[in-house]
Amino acid sequence: MKFLDSRIANLDPYVPGEQPQTSGFIKLNTNESAYPPAPKVVEAAGQAAGNLQLYPDPTLSNVSQELADYLAVEPDQLFLGNGSDEILAFCFQSLMGQGVAFPKISYGFYSVFAKLYGLTTRVIPLNADLSINLADYQDLTETIVIANPNAPTSLGLPAEAILQLVQAQPERLVIVDEAYVEFGGESLVPYVKEYANLLVVGTFSKSWQLAGARLGYAVAQPALIEILQRMKYSFNPYSVNSMTAACGLAALQSRDYHENCLKETIATRTWSKEALEKLGFEVLNSQTNFLFVKGPVSGAILYPALKERKILVRWFNQPEIKDYLRITIGTRSQMETLVATLKELLS
Ligand SMILES: *Cc1c(COP(=O)(O)O)cnc(C)c1O
Repeated sequence: MKFLDSRIANLDPYVPGEQPQTSGFIKLNTNESAYPPAPKVVEAAGQAAGNLQLYPDPTLSNVSQELADYLAVEPDQLFLGNGSDEILAFCFQSLMGQGVAFPKISYGFYSVFAKLYGLTTRVIPLNADLSINLADYQDLTETIVIANPNAPTSLGLPAEAILQLVQAQPERLVIVDEAYVEFGGESLVPYVKEYANLLVVGTFSKSWQLAGARLGYAVAQPALIEILQRMKYSFNPYSVNSMTAACGLAALQSRDYHENCLKETIATRTWSKEALEKLGFEVLNSQTNFLFVKGPVSGAILYPALKERKILVRWFNQPEIKDYLRITIGTRSQMETLVATLKELLS
């Protein structure tokens, strides 16, 4: 194709988990919430729909103020985007002047964006136990991107340990992707006020029941936030639509619902971990809404067998983790079905 830019010809696009459009599947493959949005969110979406003739507020002031209160930061320390994927894309496009470094086993989009934007990239292997060895990053000059807790391993690092990386080199940027932090991780957000080289990314997709709405955020000092604003206003000032902004605001105003969903997810995670261990699975110590497990039989075999029985989980065809499965925490009854199905498959 003679029109095609050569940089695009060689991309390896991200492969999202399957979204079957036929019902009947137990869907434990994309780390969505097991629960629907709060009732107020559904109502707010309907109300916002009645004003869709208008462009959204490009400053997103209502949801920004509410999120700033929730995170105990100032609105000028916040940036909102069309999912954290868009924000990560802006970061990779604009903040990697010194190149980028990230763990070899982590969120798949990091390597996709690094290639898309032609970045000098350093990929760092995990420890044998699949944890991130922060000592490997201490002396690097590249911008560091770390998911904490990490995906798909589900393992988290103490905030203090990551803070040491931030403190080690004030001239080096550290980006922490906290997509799963509310399920048991430690957030770096409280340190943003103090450190100009720290940027934290979060999302409404996992713990706020809004994966379909596409809403993510970045927390950093205003100088970094202004760069992200510059990216947005050079691309699409309305990347967060008005229905999504209204949903985010209503979700933030439904704190009890949010808390209850978190508690339920964590309780189901504890139950699921024990049940899978009884079946002989090794289950990593999850601080997320999913489990990373290695069974008596390889994930490469269990994944299609589960799919045939209408249970979708995620399997990654990478040598270091090909024996594992990543299983989203569903409802208790979905997890009971999963465990019963695995038991039958293994016997
Ligand atoms: C799900 C996920 C994201 C993307 O979230 P969106 O806000 O839905 O784009 C980013 N980082 C990690 C580690 C994730 O697991």
